[in-house]
Amino acid sequence: MGERYYIGADIGGTTVKLAFILDSGQIIKKWEIPTNTDEKGKAIPEDIASAIEEQLKALNIDKASVEGIGAGAPGFVDTATGYIHEAVNIGWKDFDFGRHLSERTGLRVWVDNDANLAALGENWLGAGQGCRELIAVTLGTGVGGGIISNGLVINGANGTAAELGHVTVIPDGGVLCNCGRTGCLETVASATGIVREAKKKAEEYPDSMLHRAIDAGELTSKTVFEAVEAGDEAAKQVLLKITDVLGMAISNMAIVTNPEKIVIGGGVSKAGSLLLEPLQAAFRKYALNRTVEASSFGIAELGNDAGVIGGAYLVKKNK
Ligand SMILES: [Zn+2]
Repeated sequence: MGERYYIGADIGGTTVKLAFILDSGQIIKKWEIPTNTDEKGKAIPEDIASAIEEQLKALNIDKASVEGIGAGAPGFVDTATGYIHEAVNIGWKDFDFGRHLSERTGLRVWVDNDANLAALGENWLGAGQGCRELIAVTLGTGVGGGIISNGLVINGANGTAAELGHVTVIPDGGVLCNCGRTGCLETVASATGIVREAKKKAEEYPDSMLHRAIDAGELTSKTVFEAVEAGDEAAKQVLLKITDVLGMAISNMAIVTNPEKIVIGGGVSKAGSLLLEPLQAAFRKYALNRTVEASSFGIAELGNDAGVIGGAYLVKKNK
């Protein structure tokens, strides 16, 4: 039998990342197409199908050697059918995405939440390689979560399991979240949350170096971490608060699945040990000793490829 191919598709609000991946995990072709969110994103399956046809032809790959497509989207997914209940950034609502994509491509299709795919990718080839018990947290504009328990991604009764970003961490008076509630982890530990907290904290520290970026309208989570490195007290306070809340939320998750590895990804994770050290300290503070002993933290290794690699792995595990 010749080479077998897996297709990963990572659907985001602005682009769809696509890749052809071999059984070994090697990416042989990776590209992006724009996400067409017009008319509630109804053209997306067709766009993905034509992009795949085009590349199959260009690379001279026979469709019969493709095992299937593993696709991820930010939203609530019925993984058994590939039906999307809602994916706000894409415009999908009650959209039978899996069936449409399968009909357009003539390939088998598996669909899951994008954060779950990132967890799967890290589980196959990244920082959580081979772990049967894994918690993956993505800290970007929002906060995503994926949990692997007993070697399997947890989806739950209707696709909301492991939505770590929406764990309530501030019961009263929290900031409004995209989900419509207030006080979610996402409002605190995302890049957006870090910036919000830094602006608030800087008011107590008139000499803080954060003011320069705030006044220029250029404050980002990266600036906050740079200020921490430079010894800025306000920035240090922000980091302590964020990691304390995040560490508490992760320890609460850890009591459910007893992870061997906790992988932190997304743009904010580029801060590396600057983020991990206080986060681990908070985790040790809130988790059972025995839970702490079993687990270690790591920074995600696959970057932007985690989704497409996880998609390929979803096919590989299910085919
Ligand atoms: Zn929320």
